[in-house]
Amino acid sequence: MPINVTKTFLPPFEEYTRQLKRAWDKGWITNNGELVRELEQKLRDYLGVKNLLFCSNGTIALQMAIKALDITGEIITTPFSYVATAGAILWEGCTPVFVDIDKKTFCIDADKIAASITSNTQAIIATHVYGLPCDTGKIQAIADKYHLKVIYDGAHAFGCTYKGRSLLSYGEVSICSFHATKIFHTAEGGCIICHTDELYEKLFLLRSFGHRGDDYYCTGINAKNSELHAAMGLSVLPHMESLIKRHKEIFQWYRDRFKQYPSALLPFNDEELSYNYGYFPFLFESEKILLAAKNSLEDNWIFPRRYFYPSLNTLPYLSKTSDCPASEDISKRVLCLPMQADLSVKDVDRISSLVLKVISE
Ligand SMILES: *Cc1c(COP(=O)(O)O)cnc(C)c1O
Repeated sequence: MPINVTKTFLPPFEEYTRQLKRAWDKGWITNNGELVRELEQKLRDYLGVKNLLFCSNGTIALQMAIKALDITGEIITTPFSYVATAGAILWEGCTPVFVDIDKKTFCIDADKIAASITSNTQAIIATHVYGLPCDTGKIQAIADKYHLKVIYDGAHAFGCTYKGRSLLSYGEVSICSFHATKIFHTAEGGCIICHTDELYEKLFLLRSFGHRGDDYYCTGINAKNSELHAAMGLSVLPHMESLIKRHKEIFQWYRDRFKQYPSALLPFNDEELSYNYGYFPFLFESEKILLAAKNSLEDNWIFPRRYFYPSLNTLPYLSKTSDCPASEDISKRVLCLPMQADLSVKDVDRISSLVLKVISE
C-alpha cells in the first residue's frame, strides 16, 4: 500500500449515511439546508467564533473576502503558500505584491511589509503556513497604521489555537479549507469567518447570487455548499479531538527520530500555540538532498509533497513580481513527510530511516 502525504479521514460509513438520511427524508439537498446550518453552528461553537459561513471551497472563500471588503488594488501577500492564495487575488483582478517570509516560521515577514506599501495598497493576505501563526500582532499594527484590511488564509489552521483562541479568529476575515486533504474536511468545502454582523450579511448575500428572494442587492456568486457535504462535516467533526491526538503521537515519533537535526524542524513548540499536527515539514540542507530523499521514499511507495513549491513570486504568468530570496530558498528545500492517522511506529521508523540515510550520505 502506498503511503501518501495525507490521507482523508473517513468516519464509519453508517455515521455518514445516518446524516445523509436526514437530507433524503426531507428531500432537501442544498440551499442553506438544515445540515448546513447545523454544521455552521457546530463549527462556530468548536472554533469559538461568532460569524461563520460554510462555502463550496476555501479558494472561493478567499475571493469572497476580497470582494466583500471592496478590495480592488494591491494586496500584500506571501510567496510561500498554496497557489490558491495568489490565484484568488489575481482572479479578483487585484495585484499581488509579494513580501518575503520569515525563515523561522515560513510565514510572511511582518518586518518587511511596510517597505512594500504604496498608495494603492489596500490589504494584506497572509497564510498561517502548516498552521504556524503569522505574527498577527505586528501585522495588525501595520494594518491599523496604514488603514489596510487583514485577511488570513487559515487553510491549514483548523483546530490550532494561538494565545488562547482559534487561529481562525484573527484578522478582519479568515478562511479555512475543508478539502479532503485537510485535517478537518467535508470532501470539498471551506468556510469564511468574520467579526461584524454587517460583513456577515454581505458575505451571506455574496454566497448565493446577491439576493434574498425577490430582493437583489449586489453581484453575487454561487459559493454555497450542499447537504451532502455538510453530512460529511457533521460525521467527521465528532472525531476531531481523537484525530488530533493521534496526529500528535505520530508527530512526536517523527520529532524524536530527527532530534539530532533541530535546524530541519519548525518551531511548533511555540508556547502560545496549540497545534493541530496537520503537517510534518522537514527542511533539507539543499534541494539536491531533498530530491534524493524524495526519490528514495518514492522508490519505497512513500509519497511526500513539496508544500510549497514553487515560490509563488516565480509563477510564470505574473505580469509583475519581485525577488523573495528566503521563500525561493525554503521552497526548494522543504518537504512535507506523510502525516496521517493510519501511520504506525513502524511506518514512521521506515520513513525517517530512509530520510536519515540520505542526509547522512
Ligand atoms: C488547500 C489550500 C487552499 C485551497 O483550498 P480549497 O478548499 O482546496 O479551495 C488555499 N490555501 C492554502 C494554504 C491551502 O493549503
